[in-house]
Amino acid sequence: MAKKKLVVLTGAGVSAESGISTFRDSNGLWENYDPQEVASIEGWYRNRALLLDFYNMMRANLRDVRPNDAHRAIAALEADYDVRVITQNVDNLHERAGSTRILHLHGELTKVRPENGVYDQTYSEKEVFDIGYEAIHLGDKAPNGSQLRPHIVWFGEAVPKIEPAIDWVSQADILLIVGSSLSVYPAAGLYRYAPAAAPIYLIDPQEVAVHDARIIPIREKATVGMKKFIEMIGK
Ligand code: NAD
Repeated sequence: MAKKKLVVLTGAGVSAESGISTFRDSNGLWENYDPQEVASIEGWYRNRALLLDFYNMMRANLRDVRPNDAHRAIAALEADYDVRVITQNVDNLHERAGSTRILHLHGELTKVRPENGVYDQTYSEKEVFDIGYEAIHLGDKAPNGSQLRPHIVWFGEAVPKIEPAIDWVSQADILLIVGSSLSVYPAAGLYRYAPAAAPIYLIDPQEVAVHDARIIPIREKATVGMKKFIEMIGK
């Protein structure tokens, strides 16, 4: 029998217990930075050096953090479900926990690509490459001669992976949302594409302001919430 399709949409909260701050926690990495400045395309045009430093720091920090039990539980569910992970996170903790089908809606910290000109945000997947945990600086050029930039979707930019994400969600038998405030669009609207018969579980210690009768809230941190979710679906 074909495995049921379990689509998991994750936000910053799934990595919080690994020590990566969410936007809303006013501690750690974000404390000294305005997200609108370091996470927007306008911010990049205003001060490339500042953004490069910020993402170099985030990338270096990623080397020292580890997946937590929530990332591992999501990966382990592949034994029984056809699991697809759609993450808003730019970290690589789902990969390192063993998940095999992951869509990074907002890009990946360990990858870079050419800037390709002001106001021209187009690029081809062939131009994206992995730099691991290394730093990039002003003057570092891609093979086409353009300044390298982080492979991150900033506020003000298109979200090219939204179409495949909609496709995955619209085929889900079960949708699980973990650690997302559901306030950053278009990711926040993805759950609406779940088939009417699909239950939607939402793990978050805080109340998330969405109103959909299908949503089954699990008000816990990700690690504890994943255990409860697995009990609830009978695995
Ligand atoms: P968000 O910061 O807006 O919301 C995080 C949610 O996680 C909140 O609802 C919070 O209550 C919840 N949360 C906090 N601790 C938790 C825990 N231990 N377990 C479960 N949930 C917990 O994050 P978002 O919705 O992902 O969107 C903001 C944007 O921030 C995204 O675009 C994302 O790319 C970016 N971001 C990414 C990372 C990362 O890659 N790890 C970290 C910070 C921000």
